Amino acid sequence: MCPPGCLHSICENATRRGLLKAGFTLGLGAAAAATLPTVQPARAAQAGFTDTVDLSHALYEGFPTFSGDKWFTVEQLVTFAKDKVNLNRWTIVEHSGTHMDAPIHFSADGLTADLIPISDLIVPVAVINIAARAADNVDTSLTPDDVKAWESKNGPLPEGCCVVMNSGWHRLVGDPKFTGNDDQKKNHTPGLHIETAQMLIKERKVKGIGVDTLSLDTGMNSGGAFPVHYEWLGSGRWGVECLANLDAIPESGARLFLGIPKVKGATGGPTRVIALL
Ligand SMILES: [Zn+2]
Repeated sequence: MCPPGCLHSICENATRRGLLKAGFTLGLGAAAAATLPTVQPARAAQAGFTDTVDLSHALYEGFPTFSGDKWFTVEQLVTFAKDKVNLNRWTIVEHSGTHMDAPIHFSADGLTADLIPISDLIVPVAVINIAARAADNVDTSLTPDDVKAWESKNGPLPEGCCVVMNSGWHRLVGDPKFTGNDDQKKNHTPGLHIETAQMLIKERKVKGIGVDTLSLDTGMNSGGAFPVHYEWLGSGRWGVECLANLDAIPESGARLFLGIPKVKGATGGPTRVIALL
């Protein structure tokens, strides 16, 4: 029996698979174990997981945007072939690819991305699947009734969770249907209904909302008014857009880790979102 904090007790709380993915090996000796930071048992249990799923799309030049503009470009500054070093310069709009919207994005004085407490960046996730309905109606929304149906099956939304819409759109990245643009330059994509945002703010304890489309709002058929963006981010909460692989995680029981870069004053930013199962 080893004391709390040794590799053995950490192994009991994380899983072998999770540790291997995190770069640990079972061959680590006592010297390596002695250098590990102390982990309190309660904290370790909280951190336990048995699998991980990457919920981020790879970002690349030409990643879809509503306008069709390139929001992310890469320039090679030096190359290994010529300079013995590889180094690129990125030019990026903050809201490119899978990314987080910080409260400041749609409010006058909300938190910037660097100031969001890290305790708000590892949260339970409730995945609400409206893909069947969205396949028939691209203008559909995640409604309060969808939330209630999820709760009647899974119990109340976990305190401090992120509510995620799985519309099936994560499978369409690279397909023109992903942006849903019509010939009037309006887009048609599923999103949250404003009444859902209001319900989650007033009647539940939710930290974030997520979607697998480019916008928290339902298309631009409201004239680009972005009611959910204003209501949700204006309440001091965060959002995450353009999530991937949502079919690979359960509708209940997983957690999200949101690895957003700590850029001073950022209104959001490309984010590595990892589901911990
Ligand atoms: Zn955004």
